[in-house]
Amino acid sequence: MERRELVILGAGPAGLTAAIYGRRAGLDVLIIERGMPGGQITITDEIENWPGVQHASGQELADSFRRHAEKFSPEFRDATVTSLEVRDGRKVVVTDKGEVEAEAVIIATGANFKRLGCPGEAEYTGRGVSYCAVCDGAFFEGEEVAVIGGGNTAVEEACYLTQFASKVYIVHRRDSFRADKVPVERAMSNPKIVPIFDSVVEAIEGGDMVERLVLWNVKTQEVSTLPVSGVFIFVGTAPNSGFASSLVETSPGGWIKTNSRMETSVEGIFAAGDVRDTFLRQVVTAAGDGAVAAMSAYSYITEQLHLQKILLEPPRVNALFYSSIDQEQVRLVGRVEEWASSKNVQVTLVDGYRNLRMMEKLGVRELPTAMVLKEGREVSRASVTSEEDLGLFLEL
Ligand SMILES: Cc1cc2nc3c(=O)[nH]c(=O)nc-3n(C[C@H](O)[C@H](O)[C@H](O)COP(=O)(O)OP(=O)(O)OC[C@H]3O[C@@H](n4cnc5c(N)ncnc54)[C@H](O)[C@@H]3O)c2cc1C
Repeated sequence: MERRELVILGAGPAGLTAAIYGRRAGLDVLIIERGMPGGQITITDEIENWPGVQHASGQELADSFRRHAEKFSPEFRDATVTSLEVRDGRKVVVTDKGEVEAEAVIIATGANFKRLGCPGEAEYTGRGVSYCAVCDGAFFEGEEVAVIGGGNTAVEEACYLTQFASKVYIVHRRDSFRADKVPVERAMSNPKIVPIFDSVVEAIEGGDMVERLVLWNVKTQEVSTLPVSGVFIFVGTAPNSGFASSLVETSPGGWIKTNSRMETSVEGIFAAGDVRDTFLRQVVTAAGDGAVAAMSAYSYITEQLHLQKILLEPPRVNALFYSSIDQEQVRLVGRVEEWASSKNVQVTLVDGYRNLRMMEKLGVRELPTAMVLKEGREVSRASVTSEEDLGLFLEL
């Protein structure tokens, strides 16, 4: 099977940033993407909150991310990830074009739009129902359309649609928008935008194409119809994590749980960007996550796997676990090094403070601890405070 150091799943802002950081750190990087590199931003017309660039279309920004990543020559592969597995401790990425074994994996597969789930939605998708204003807005020149949703994306995309449509209704189930103040003010000052609050879509109806929405007012309980020829649905997103949801821990909804180093519940598997259980899902946070995930993967590959080789694979290892932030233990390590060289004994020194995963794996709870391992199996352990203790423990 093909073996790689770092495999990144998804080439959106998180995956492309991780590729830049991973390659700069000298890792062999394979990035697997099922569509065009760039991710969700490619379907938005305007990004104005990426620092340093006051205005760019999503496609422009995505192209510049991709070109930047390409400069460091990761390998891009056009494939769909269908599952992520751990087989005999080895991480295997399964795609529709074959399997790849990875030392570390970063899941950066982002999120996708949610559907409303009302009658008519599926039937009219592509015939008036859309999830992408940039892709389909121009088909509605001079027509009346509705945007469904109340967050930033809904309000910003409604503004974009006013370039084409004669009127844009924003249908929202609450009595005010969730979006930020600036986009809301911009939308409300646009004479083509008409908000319809406290309303949910009961059905999308028409003939060959969409002709109207059936709306239900949640306060008055009234049912009404709204004649429109297009419906743009922006009611949130769901994570693209199904291929890994039985492997890594997720929160309700399938968002992947990580710590601040982007480590998931499975060693050597990291997650970054919108797919993660996180407070804010934006380009800037996805890029930041990608950088952290790549550096965590780098430290996992260089430290953890190296440790595995020197600690768990040899026939016999005399190990001393210590803490590099405890001056007494750092002095002990210096003395042990001298003692070991005078006795011609090999002692493998492991900084437990920096290698918590390995400590957990071996059940080391206090430092310093000496341990004898044979082919990765613990034979004995002792708490030691001097080189003499260590000598006694090793029976030397
Ligand atoms: C309409 C719209 C407007 C937006 N406007 C803004 C804005 O103005 N400012 C802002 O900061 N953010 C905005 N966002 C949000 C922003 O796009 C996301 O936060 C950001 O793209 C997340 O990046 P990501 O890399 O985590 O995921 P994504 O961008 O979702 O990228 C994930 C990539 O993984 C790929 N992928 C998924 N599953 C698989 C699989 N199984 N196999 C292989 N590849 C896979 C996808 O094809 C995709 O390319 C907007 C989003 C939308 C939809």
